[in-house]
Amino acid sequence: MRDKGVKCAAIVLAAGQGKRMNTDIHKQYLLIKDKPVLYYALNTIECSFIDEIILVVGKGEISYCEEKIVKRYHFHKVVKIVEGGKERYHSVKEGLKAIQNCDYVFVHDGARPFIDLPMLERALEGAQKYQACIVGMPVKDTIRIVDDYNIGKDTPRRDRVWMMQTPQVFSFTLLKEAYEKIMNRDCSYITDDAMVVEAMKGIRPKLVMGAYTNIKITTRDDLMIAEGILAQHSEITLPSHLD
Ligand code: C5P
Repeated sequence: MRDKGVKCAAIVLAAGQGKRMNTDIHKQYLLIKDKPVLYYALNTIECSFIDEIILVVGKGEISYCEEKIVKRYHFHKVVKIVEGGKERYHSVKEGLKAIQNCDYVFVHDGARPFIDLPMLERALEGAQKYQACIVGMPVKDTIRIVDDYNIGKDTPRRDRVWMMQTPQVFSFTLLKEAYEKIMNRDCSYITDDAMVVEAMKGIRPKLVMGAYTNIKITTRDDLMIAEGILAQHSEITLPSHLD
């Protein structure tokens, strides 16, 4: 449950180039069923308790996104569309700059279409208690750490290994301060926001359950999987004011 008077913003990231998709169209605009990938997460957030959305898009894509996504699907909570940067963490930083004020910020990959309201609530609850909360899932496969030659080096206990997903939710001041600190350092190893907060502020995130269906559209196969998920869960993933 959201504490009384708490204001939440979401940074939705859609500035990736989608190189692993092998297409000229950026993956966030490819269609699942008849709607762009980006539509689905925005739609769930639009229908949730989150107050405002900052959409971070690729270079030169602001007006395209405004017309083809925000206006077309009536996403009234999108208060700003800004250009992202070279790496994911540059894009988050741009998104953070666009937030005037809030208590908690959700950072979400626009390439993950299948979030739902209970997941957003779990993540906020965790953030209210621990300042930093990520959704994720325990791995199903055994994970092996390898060396430079792909020789197995270490096998962590499977019940202690989770895959990280988004949304990742933080106290706004905490995330802002963490991102202010990283900018002049080598960040090539950083792939999510919890890593930034942990490295810069020493705060370890709480993990709560996401979903195995909360996939990130990365390669062409993922589009096929997404069609399947949508066919199974259409009532969950499309709580739309439009559908
Ligand atoms: O590259 P990766 O799949 O990890 O991207 C995760 C999310 O971050 C995607 O939604 C992508 O659009 C976004 N991203 C971004 N800016 C970048 C790189 C990725 O907004 N420079």
